[in-house]
Amino acid sequence: MSSEKLNLTELEKKALKLIIEAGKDGLLQQDLWKKLNIDSRDGSRIALRLAKKKLIHRELVTVKGRKTYRLTALVDKVPEEEESEEKKEVKYEKRIPRSIKLDVKVRMGLVAKIPCTSCPHANRCGPGNFFDPATCTKLGQWLEKAVKALERKSAKRATRV
Ligand code: SF4
Repeated sequence: MSSEKLNLTELEKKALKLIIEAGKDGLLQQDLWKKLNIDSRDGSRIALRLAKKKLIHRELVTVKGRKTYRLTALVDKVPEEEESEEKKEVKYEKRIPRSIKLDVKVRMGLVAKIPCTSCPHANRCGPGNFFDPATCTKLGQWLEKAVKALERKSAKRATRV
């Protein structure tokens, strides 16, 4: 099984490791997200992704009157761990960085106001993820405001000329 095809995130690898360690009795989904210190929504998303990749089996069970899933591993090793030794042996050619001349003025005050700089989801945010800059309302609203402010500024400048 190739890890490149599986494309496991660090959290998915951790989750799979915990499920493998739980043995044939498996791990309840509610225990998985508690152990990973994530919320139930993220926990079920990770379990679903692992099940889709056929690394775990997800079985609906009722525990103390509540429905949850029992997760059991379908593999005995985290696939990416199998390959990490191979990866160490891969040699990369060094590339000499091209020098790039950037002529961009960055206003640090503006950068500090970008919602991503103080967002608690920043480390999980990325294209195609649950937190995605392309669909983020916070970022969208901030950009809209920034564009309007720029438009007002250039309109002011135009009236002065
Ligand atoms: S795009 Fe949205 S969710 Fe992502 S880091 Fe920025 S504010 Fe947070």
